[in-house]
Amino acid sequence: MIKDKVVIITGASSGIGEATAKLLASKGAKVVLGARREHQLRKLVDEIQIDGGQAVYQVMDVVNPSDNAQIVKLAKETFGGVDVIFLNAGIMPNSPLSALKTDEWNQTVDVNIKGVLNGIAAVLPTFISQKQKSGHVITTSSVAGLKAYPGGAVYGGTKWFVRDFMEVLRMESAQEGTNIRTATIYPAAINTELLDQITDQDVAEKMTQLYEQYGISPDRVANVVAFAIDQPEDTNVNEFTIGPTTQP
Ligand code: NDP
Repeated sequence: MIKDKVVIITGASSGIGEATAKLLASKGAKVVLGARREHQLRKLVDEIQIDGGQAVYQVMDVVNPSDNAQIVKLAKETFGGVDVIFLNAGIMPNSPLSALKTDEWNQTVDVNIKGVLNGIAAVLPTFISQKQKSGHVITTSSVAGLKAYPGGAVYGGTKWFVRDFMEVLRMESAQEGTNIRTATIYPAAINTELLDQITDQDVAEKMTQLYEQYGISPDRVANVVAFAIDQPEDTNVNEFTIGPTTQP
C-alpha cells in the first residue's frame, strides 16, 4: 500500500524524482523532497498541495551527511516516521577516461556513491528502531551499471556499486530481523535534465542524439517505484530494468 506511507525522495527537483513525487503524492503518500535547487522544490510542493497531496521539502546536498540526517528528522517531525527512502539523486558527466576530467570523476563518486551511503546511514537507525522494524530503500542505478559503454566508465562504476550494495543491505537486514526491503531500478534513456552536466562536447552530442531518438518520459520510472512500494511487506521487488522499447 502506498497510501499514508512517508517517502523521502532525493533528487526530487527534476526528472525521475519529480515525477515520482507527483505520482506517489497522488496515491496518498506523504512525500519529503530533497535536492539543492530550492525554487524547483518549492514549486513542486505547491503543485502537490494544490492537488490535495501532502509534501514538504528540504534543500540538501546528498554529499553532506548532516543534510541527510536533517531530511530524515524533517520526515519524522512532520509525518511521524519514515517508511521508504528513494535514493535517486545522481549526476552523469560522462567523458572518455583519456580526457582526465578528474574533478568530474570525483564529483560523480561523491554524489552517486557517497550520497547513497549518506542516505542509508541517516535512515537506518530509524528503520531499526521503528516499532514495525522495517523500511524500504529504493535506489536509481542505471543500465550503465549492467553494461559497459565508452564514456561511461566512472558513472557505470558508481551505478554498479549501488546494485551490489542494495542486495547486501537486504540480506543483512533479513539476518538481523529488520526485514528492510530494497529495490534497485535500472533505467535506460529517460528524458530528464541528466545530460545537462556533460561537458565533453562529443559525448554530449552523441547522447543527445540517442535521447532524442529513444528517450521516454520519467513518469514510466515513477510507475516502477510505485509498483515496488505497493507490494505486500513480505514481497521484495529486487531489481527492475526499464527503458524505451526500441533502444538498442
Ligand atoms: P535529473 O538531472 O533531472 O535529476 C537529478 C536530480 O538529482 C536532480 O533533482 C538534482 O537536483 C539532484 N542532485 C544532483 N546532485 C545532487 C546533490 N549533490 N545533492 C542533492 N541532489 C542532487 O536527472 P534524472 O532524473 O534522470 O536522474 C535521477 C537519477 O536517475 C540519477 O541517479 C541518474 O543517474 C539516474 N538515471 C537516469 C537515467 C536517464 O536516462 N535520465 C538513466 C539511468 C539512471 P539539484 O540539482 O536541484 O540538486
